[in-house]
Amino acid sequence: MSVSATAAVLRGHGEPFRLESVRVPSIRADEVLVRVHGVGICHTDLTAAAGGVLFPLPAVLGHEGSGVIEAVGAEVTGLAPGDPVVLGFDSCRDCRNCARGRPAYCTRFAALNYGGTRADGSTTLTEADGSALHGNWFGQSSMCSYAVTSARNTVPLPRDVPVALAGPLGCGLQTGAGTVLEVLRPEPGASLAVFGLGAVGMAAVMASPTDHADVGRAVRHASDGGVDFAVESVGTDSVVRQALSSLRAPGTCATLGLRPGRNPITVDQSHLLNGRTLTGVIEGDADPLVFLPRLVDLWRQGRFPIEKIVRTFPIDRIDDAVTAARSGDVVKAVLTFTTDDTGG
Ligand SMILES: [Zn+2]
Ligand SMILES: [Zn+2]
Repeated sequence: MSVSATAAVLRGHGEPFRLESVRVPSIRADEVLVRVHGVGICHTDLTAAAGGVLFPLPAVLGHEGSGVIEAVGAEVTGLAPGDPVVLGFDSCRDCRNCARGRPAYCTRFAALNYGGTRADGSTTLTEADGSALHGNWFGQSSMCSYAVTSARNTVPLPRDVPVALAGPLGCGLQTGAGTVLEVLRPEPGASLAVFGLGAVGMAAVMASPTDHADVGRAVRHASDGGVDFAVESVGTDSVVRQALSSLRAPGTCATLGLRPGRNPITVDQSHLLNGRTLTGVIEGDADPLVFLPRLVDLWRQGRFPIEKIVRTFPIDRIDDAVTAARSGDVVKAVLTFTTDDTGG
């Protein structure tokens, strides 16, 4: 059964998202249909909308979705209609890196998350007239009242958390927190500086085990011989260099900020020679099926207060939400759906 849905459709690079009525054709046996309650706006959506990420148009973006399962395909196990869920990025679960528990570096990452179609070329969405509309953005395209996902990237939520606010866990917050908890793994007492306080940077701060995760204090540390770890979520040449130069020796800087196109960075080799490391991290190098439940637990304990950095906007105010996200007016804008699309 196909369903009608409301989606923010991108028809041309640099154009605004347009709210349109679209169709979600019947899901396949390995797919999951999620009624979206909320979707965070990630800077990667805005970079793609501006043409900075190769993705076929027209398309529906959105990759920080959360909601409630509407239907599951015949082959899906462990998920059922009515389950509240948060969505992560997609991965093949089969390649060498996936088998090692590192799906962020899946060898099929680009095809699965930026391909715009299923492997057979069909699309999970269509225009109202039945023509193809590209979806599968990060395995979800959740700027739509219904998202087509799979068991590979659909993570059950406990029933006592606000579902509509959970979406940012799936990308921005996983990226910042995963970089700290899964990659840098600072020991108690270690110092950490965060450069760029968007949602990714804020999540890195919230995931830090010490009270040293304060930028001002970290900068003071830096003048005092440097910090043990730096997380950089901007991605420009100058900010990467600043973050790297804040390190003591040895020390590690992780760069997370995605910039469009080629992005050469110049570093002083003598700085690295003293045992310093510059590394890059995608999606916190985390497996969403394992890591998102961990973040949800921290959230429920009050140790990862998502609600403090989120502002919600109804989907029909998407232009305001994009403006606020671009300007840094809000740390994390989340679009919410109140439409009452029904199947048929
Ligand atoms: Zn893989
Ligand atoms: Zn993202």
